[in-house]
Amino acid sequence: MQPHHDYDLIVAGAGMVGMSTALWAQSEGLRVVVCDPNPAGSGTTSGSACVIATYACNPVNSPSIIKSLPTLLTSPDSPLSFNLMHGLKNPAWMLSFLNNCRPTRVDHIANALAGLLAHTNDGLNPLIALADAQDLIIENDCLYVWSTASGHAASLPSEARRASLGVQSEDLSPSDIQSLEPNIRLPLHRGLRFKGARHIASPQELVSRMHRKFTVLGGTTLPQTILSSIADADGVTAQLSDNTPIRASRLVVAAGARSRDIKGSGAEKLPLGTERGYHILYENHRNLLSRPVGWAEAGFYATPMADGLRVAGTVEINATDAPFNQKRTAYLTRKSHDMFGDLGAPDSEWLGHRPTMPDSLPVIGHSNKSDRIIMAFGHQHIGLTLGGITGKIATDLAQGRKPSCDITAFSADRF
Ligand SMILES: Cc1cc2nc3c(=O)[nH]c(=O)nc-3n(C[C@H](O)[C@H](O)[C@H](O)COP(=O)(O)OP(=O)(O)OC[C@H]3O[C@@H](n4cnc5c(N)ncnc54)[C@H](O)[C@@H]3O)c2cc1C
Repeated sequence: MQPHHDYDLIVAGAGMVGMSTALWAQSEGLRVVVCDPNPAGSGTTSGSACVIATYACNPVNSPSIIKSLPTLLTSPDSPLSFNLMHGLKNPAWMLSFLNNCRPTRVDHIANALAGLLAHTNDGLNPLIALADAQDLIIENDCLYVWSTASGHAASLPSEARRASLGVQSEDLSPSDIQSLEPNIRLPLHRGLRFKGARHIASPQELVSRMHRKFTVLGGTTLPQTILSSIADADGVTAQLSDNTPIRASRLVVAAGARSRDIKGSGAEKLPLGTERGYHILYENHRNLLSRPVGWAEAGFYATPMADGLRVAGTVEINATDAPFNQKRTAYLTRKSHDMFGDLGAPDSEWLGHRPTMPDSLPVIGHSNKSDRIIMAFGHQHIGLTLGGITGKIATDLAQGRKPSCDITAFSADRF
């Protein structure tokens, strides 16, 4: 059967990464088709903690994880949870993750992430303007707080690394924190204020406005899953779930934690895993905070956003398709009551899948299979932040240009 359409670029996935790519490519005159069976921005992007976290260069990988692993894994009060059966079935990912907790690896990862994060605004701000979404962007900094001296002491090496990589922050005493956010009821030890950090009132609304603009400017959307792709000398053919093939000069794989499902793209050969994360929402408590606050020991952010107060974070290492784990949202509920007093039961709860490589670096670059296929996934905890710049880089690659920033560390060849 002959392909029924011709495009310059097929984008697989309409999350923050895919829609950013689509809009950047379209703004350069490329004929773009986006394929996604779900509404734009409704995947992992929708449930995130909403922070444009330009300071978030420290990966989850850390030498301290290895030391504290037994406590982290067995305590019901731990921000990290790990399913043993899943670990036994996927030893390669786990071992590679632990290998990337060595100090030299962590330095490399943080350095590479800081380099990319420095370009966040170049990638994101033009898209916010294009999508007419300035009203969704809140410029009021972001705080980290530590409730214990030991938690704060343990963070000093990684905070020193963050500072050495050029991230600006202001040290806060308990009374500084109280005057900025008087509704926090934790015993406070220290805090950090990341000046210039922004957050998004609704990540899904942002991506959905990007999609609306894309459509108005003539972009095509097909509500289909891409099952497989084959590249040849002239282009790429993608097989859709309705059994039709589409053809374009190039394909960008931006299907988040599901990117490996696209057979033949090269993504299926890469060790993409998932860090499952949860959020709970208190619709009527948005006014408790004026900016996102990350409680470091508890592993989550509380963020005042359009729908209410969202308490989002934690890491659960388990299969993508494993059932919703109520223990994780019970943890968030308990801890949010510690943080703010009795908030009652949350109005809703959510599970999402961070796309995570064992070295916490995204894959951005040509596929090992063909230069016609471009990988753009694996943004772990910071895909909302890095989606815009990733889309800009993917467009550079689709146009045959050298990207505006160094992407060597993100190459698919590193595995
Ligand atoms: C609890 C939590 C809090 C977070 N907080 C933040 C934060 O504050 N700041 C931040 O920067 N990041 C945050 N993140 C991370 C961020 O949400 C992700 O890195 C980011 O959303 C990934 O975007 P994506 O476009 O790659 O994936 P997604 O948003 O998941 O989009 C992928 C899309 O691909 C589609 N798809 C899947 N398979 C196919 C296929 N075969 N064909 C076509 N389409 C397909 C899906 O339907 C989906 O729409 C958080 C994550 C979690 C879980």
